[in-house]
Amino acid sequence: MRVAVLDRDSCQPRRCVKECQKFCPKVRSGDETIIFGEDKKPIISEVLCIGCGICVKKCPFDAIKIINLPEKLKSQETHRYGKNGFILFGLPIPRVGEVTGILGPNGIGKTTAIRILTGKLKPNLGGEETEWKEILRYLSGSELQKYFKRVIDGKIRSSYKLQDIDSLQKFKGTVSDFLEETDERGEIKKLTERLGLEEVSERNISDLSGGELQRVAIASCLSKEREFYFFDEITPYLDIYQRVRVAKIIKELSKEKSVMVVEHDLAILDLLTDAVHVVYGEPGVYGVITHPLATRTAINQYIRGDLQKENIRIRDKSIKFEVHAPRSNVNLAVLKEFGRIYKSYGKFSLEVNPGDMRKGEIIGGIGPNSIGKSTFAKILSGVIEPTDGNIDFDLKISYKPQYVKGDTELTIAEILAPFMNPHYETEFINPLRLKSMMRKKICDLSGGELQRIAIVLCLSRDVDLYILDEPSAHLDVEERTMISRIIRRFIENKEATAVVIDHDVYLIDLVSDRLIVFSGEPGTFGRTNGPLDMREGMNLFLKELNITFRRDEDTKRPRINKLNSRLDREQKEKGEYYYR
Ligand code: ADP
Ligand code: ADP
Ligand code: SF4
Repeated sequence: MRVAVLDRDSCQPRRCVKECQKFCPKVRSGDETIIFGEDKKPIISEVLCIGCGICVKKCPFDAIKIINLPEKLKSQETHRYGKNGFILFGLPIPRVGEVTGILGPNGIGKTTAIRILTGKLKPNLGGEETEWKEILRYLSGSELQKYFKRVIDGKIRSSYKLQDIDSLQKFKGTVSDFLEETDERGEIKKLTERLGLEEVSERNISDLSGGELQRVAIASCLSKEREFYFFDEITPYLDIYQRVRVAKIIKELSKEKSVMVVEHDLAILDLLTDAVHVVYGEPGVYGVITHPLATRTAINQYIRGDLQKENIRIRDKSIKFEVHAPRSNVNLAVLKEFGRIYKSYGKFSLEVNPGDMRKGEIIGGIGPNSIGKSTFAKILSGVIEPTDGNIDFDLKISYKPQYVKGDTELTIAEILAPFMNPHYETEFINPLRLKSMMRKKICDLSGGELQRIAIVLCLSRDVDLYILDEPSAHLDVEERTMISRIIRRFIENKEATAVVIDHDVYLIDLVSDRLIVFSGEPGTFGRTNGPLDMREGMNLFLKELNITFRRDEDTKRPRINKLNSRLDREQKEKGEYYYR
């Protein structure tokens, strides 16, 4: 099965109109392999194309993909976004009494699948507009046929937690006004309490932090009386404690309802779901939703990059996790020492204890929300002044804030133009697959795309200290691993220093040499501990949360232990909360 996909945003027909046709050997021999559509952009015939790949190589904007897929996929096309558009194969299956997870990279069709399941998008089975009668015939005998019959009859209505929580900020009013509007189950008081939203209930939605907004969005989704609930990412901007708490509430809901979750934090996906559909393919080109597997099997196969049932390798190498704490970099030269610093906002105060930062090391920053992590990052980077104590750094610093706003009309190419050279392309552009996105405007980027650009932009500056606040938000598993590798390689080679604040323990484990642990009373006072070595830091952090991790026997990935399980008790006794 030959598939030709054209990225219509990247294609610039004004620059190379007719060029496409000139390159194609089939057009030269008289076939209408490439014609031009009403929008003056090419339409490539998948029947006439011989897959020589000349147009793919010639296109200066990386806009064309020609791919040969196994014939068996032909009967599994669920939806195609028009001629030469993205194709989705298969669909996940919602089941009452279970949380079903969807695991795959960004741009692979997860949202498309969910829009279909919630009845917002009528699938076209890969072709033109299709009648429901035909769709049901195509699905005959499957669980999905029964499901869609009920969707068409209006017996399955859905509640949906969007990935883009910023869109909630259009609401003019307070948190309690908003939640009262969506409350159909009479649960809002309980949910507000369980999600720790009482303190902000009279605050305007437009004034909330990302973590508060995320919990409001989750509460609103949970408060509706529906048959199918879908959560497109629950973890961005939540600390690990809040993540575990949200997972518990969603799990309870699933006892009586169908629940589906897209999640990139593997520890939480592992804790929350009963079964997982892995989605593989090529982002922006095609995505194949596989049959569900037990959660542990699905995550492990995904980490190894080897889908056994499908007999497909989705990645050359498996993702590797460190089992032992890395040795501390005591021999590295000190970049800067800092003394005691205080910051007070009135209601909240932060005490930064003395410490040092070394050349060529990455210091991870972990702790609950509202404990002063971003305040610390802002003090270090000079965005705010401390109330007491001096940060007399004569250092050059580059800072990526926690919330990244993409409100410029400039394109990625325009933003990154000052830094572009072959080395930069090898180091950042190629591994992060940014090339095909270069013509996109910053204001049109998805959360994950914007995050990648913000990280790259932060690392592009020639400075001594790089500060990245929550780089994992909206990144998929591959992107998190890739970003960790890029940051590590870059900091080691440059012998610079980085501070990376994040809630994803996988990312912190992969990226850090030492840890600063924030403790105290969220919203009231915070204090820093360290930088400590990884073992000491993880133990201190997780002890306060009362959470232990074990290692998966197969992939060595960290998994959250059930509270009071044998391992949980044993590890707490030994004082080994993370590395064993
Ligand atoms: P995910 O949720 O996995 O990030 P999506 O389902 O949002 O992926 O999108 C998959 C691909 O489908 C995207 O790369 C995008 O190119 C394409 N796509 C999404 N929505 C549309 C649309 N309305 N029209 C055309 N293409 C779309
Ligand atoms: P974290 O990054 O750990 O979530 P922050 O450093 O963002 O925490 O905030 C710590 C506390 O300080 C929070 O209670 C927050 O509401 C408060 N805070 C942050 N910035 C300000 C500010 N500009 N004015 C008043 N309070 C603030
Ligand atoms: Fe023509 Fe070759 Fe491109 Fe197919 S791959 S459209 S045959 S140039």
